[in-house]
Amino acid sequence: MAAYSAIRMLPTRTQLSQAYPLASRIDEDGRLQLGGCDALELAREFGTPAYIVVEDDLRARAQTFVEAFRARTTNFDVLFASKAFPCTAVCRVLASEGIACDVASGGELALALRGGFDPARIYMHGNAKSIDELHQARAAGVGHIVIDNADEIERLEAVVGAGPPQPVLLRVTPDVRGETHEKISTGQADSKFGFSMLDAPAAIARVENSPALDLEGLHIHIGSQILELDPFRRAIEAIATLGDFDTYNLGGGLGVAYTSAQEPPRISDYVAAKVDTAHRVLGPGKRLLDEPGRALVANSTVTLYTVQSVKRNVSTWVAVDGGMSDNLRPMLYGAVYEAQVADRFTQSAEGGGTPSRLTGKHCESGDVIVHAVELVDPRVGDVIVTPATGAYGHAMANNYNGVPRPPVVFVSGGDARVVVRRETYDDLAARDVDG
Ligand code: PLP
Repeated sequence: MAAYSAIRMLPTRTQLSQAYPLASRIDEDGRLQLGGCDALELAREFGTPAYIVVEDDLRARAQTFVEAFRARTTNFDVLFASKAFPCTAVCRVLASEGIACDVASGGELALALRGGFDPARIYMHGNAKSIDELHQARAAGVGHIVIDNADEIERLEAVVGAGPPQPVLLRVTPDVRGETHEKISTGQADSKFGFSMLDAPAAIARVENSPALDLEGLHIHIGSQILELDPFRRAIEAIATLGDFDTYNLGGGLGVAYTSAQEPPRISDYVAAKVDTAHRVLGPGKRLLDEPGRALVANSTVTLYTVQSVKRNVSTWVAVDGGMSDNLRPMLYGAVYEAQVADRFTQSAEGGGTPSRLTGKHCESGDVIVHAVELVDPRVGDVIVTPATGAYGHAMANNYNGVPRPPVVFVSGGDARVVVRRETYDDLAARDVDG
């Protein structure tokens, strides 16, 4: 299995940006190949829009995380933040690579169990866990519950009752801000997540004195799509003042390349920064957990669309058969993607095509997938590809305008298989009860 460093070599060898999955290339005819499968044939067979997941890429990144930890410590676990791609097949692949799991709701817990994660290695998060969700976690034998707030302490104590104590971590907001969009920044002092540095000591004392709860350590997560390592170091330094614990969950947050211009840190450098800081300020021998979502799954996946219209207005508007129902991120946080015609790639991501706006089919002017992209002579019927859609794409998919959600298709070694089927119009009415 190629290591993550091989992904970085793709652009020079094949003109593909590093946003694309490992095991993708452009063939002699200029057509995109994904996991040994031709992108146009995938579009023909499974329809569009479709999420295409390169399984080898998922496995390679999981292995890279585990190897990076193993190189520095024996006492660790890597957790998949399943919110990034809540899908049974993705869970199965990552579980088979030895990854553990974080869930943030009863629904994610159900998927994680279906996906084969050992309940003892599942961590339940959430800033508003219901009593039902806490009961579900207990019934499933979830290893750790991550306590977010004072109300939850009482609620969990009631759920545990006289039963065996529940191992817990306490989520702390370290008052460290990473450079990212404010909607996905979580480490600042006034956050909806966790106990502030001011409130944490009393909460720690409260949980330590609870017969129903067994406090093993602390949790932090400062935000998502963070492209520098320093905020991760500062966050760990901040919580070192809160006491001495066996376990520290250092959260996720490593950013990825959505375009060829973005240069995220290597997974190994990210792990080294966190582990070395933890050893320095928390002491040796601590159990260190990390919970990447995006960095495990984003670049494994591309979305295929079909062009429905090319309208030359002030701009050239290239409209495809999906949009904010399958990729909400550009509309939620102005996330930037790149795009190409799947059988006419530009030589570089920087130019060579028709300046276009890649827009979706939804009834909102904000439904623009890529605001500025060069597509080579875009025409109706072309298959368009947007890379790096594995994280928070399928996860945030919706049925706006009655659009059925796309299938998830795994490709590997030239074979393709549907792991989530496309929704049907019957699915759209499946919950209707008034006939
Ligand atoms: N852990 C927690 C508690 C989170 O809230 C999130 C994402 O929001 C993650 C981990 C995963 O973050 P990322 O996908 O940036 O790695």
